[in-house]
Amino acid sequence: MKHQPPPPPLPLSQPPLMGGGTAAGGVANAISSLNGISNVNNNNNSNNGIEAAKCRPPIYPKPKTPSFDKDRDYIGFATLPEQVHRKSVKRGFEFTLMVVGESGLGKSTLINSLFLGDLYKNRQMPNVEERIEKTTKVEKKTMDIEERGVRLRLTVVDTPGFGDAINCEDSWRVCTQYIDEQFRQYFTDESGLNRRNIQDNRVHCCLYFVPPWGHSLRQMDLDLIRRLHRKVNIVLVIGKADCLNKQEVRKLKERILQDLEDNHIQLYQFPECDSDEDDDFKQQDRELKASIPFAVVGSNTILEVAGKKVRGRQYPWGVVNVEDPEHSDFIKLRTFLISTHMQDLKDTTQDVHYENFRAQCISQISQHALRERGKLKRDSISSTNGFDAAISETDRLLLQKDEEIRRMQDMLTQMQEKLKQTHMMEMKKNDSVIDV
Ligand code: GDP
Repeated sequence: MKHQPPPPPLPLSQPPLMGGGTAAGGVANAISSLNGISNVNNNNNSNNGIEAAKCRPPIYPKPKTPSFDKDRDYIGFATLPEQVHRKSVKRGFEFTLMVVGESGLGKSTLINSLFLGDLYKNRQMPNVEERIEKTTKVEKKTMDIEERGVRLRLTVVDTPGFGDAINCEDSWRVCTQYIDEQFRQYFTDESGLNRRNIQDNRVHCCLYFVPPWGHSLRQMDLDLIRRLHRKVNIVLVIGKADCLNKQEVRKLKERILQDLEDNHIQLYQFPECDSDEDDDFKQQDRELKASIPFAVVGSNTILEVAGKKVRGRQYPWGVVNVEDPEHSDFIKLRTFLISTHMQDLKDTTQDVHYENFRAQCISQISQHALRERGKLKRDSISSTNGFDAAISETDRLLLQKDEEIRRMQDMLTQMQEKLKQTHMMEMKKNDSVIDV
């Protein structure tokens, strides 16, 4: 059958910033698309002045009905991407982000700036004594956001108290335990009966905040990163980067990368850009990779600069515009985390980190089963040996009895023989007397 090329795929409703457009255009798209995020839970939409307008839901193109008369060679699988798109939009998306770093590094401000929400409304700040005593906790906050009809359930896992106590030993333990617990829960759910409604609470990305002061990573940072880098996608972020000038930022980034290399630590690896991607996407990808670790500035304040509303920080000497790539990597982080690599972070969690955990679990389970089987076998062998011993004891007694019976029978036979002989002799004696 000669195949005609299928009709070109029907245009999807505009997906949020993937590839096309210039890098700057992509960033602009990201900004405008994120300004379009509406918080479904907290529907007051004020967001410090930014109107989080809910965009129109997407209009899905109707799959073209094949005309059998005219287009006999049309099969119809060219609509598969649309079918997948429609199904996943209907189902919605889940993403879990863990935020780790000591208090005051701007974590909550950054999360609010990234997702245009207020996840930390009822936050209570501990005083000095409480902080000295404090142990690291895990706090989970969930927010449902919607953009152009696409629903995202975002869970932010915060670790208040991290690094606050004098002894920071437990800080990394709390994080590793939490990540493992989520994997274990998923493993249990996946092996259970109700696999259709599994809630995925696995941590897809961990934003680790490094302070702008200091010259590189501290022992405490290395301790945590070393323990987490094989369990979760770690993305390093230098918080409050407006404390540093451009040169200082560059130097700090270089030293951090060197530290990671010296300690054989591998953070989240950006996937290679496909060769068939367009040049603008490749350029954007190169810029993202070159910016790691992202040096970010966060702010919940909207300021007016040259007639434009911007998210920024007002200082006596001027305004730091959070979204200006010259001032911080905030937009790059947001583009990476939300627009370009969110799905890859989820895929890496599933294919690499969870697979590692699953393989470990299965090997532990099979080792345990082997040990149990060995134990059972040993037990059964020893019990069989005992049985054999019991049997041989009985046999020995029986044999003894047999021997005794045999001896008595011999004696009886001898006695009978003797009796017979005596009887014969007597008979002979009698016969001789008669003869006489
Ligand atoms: P968290 O404890 O790590 O969540 O830190 P917060 O987000 O509560 O921020 C602590 C303080 O730092 C607040 O006063 C923020 O306004 C301020 N802050 C947050 N982000 C930045 C930033 O990027 N630069 C500067 N200079 N200050 C910031």
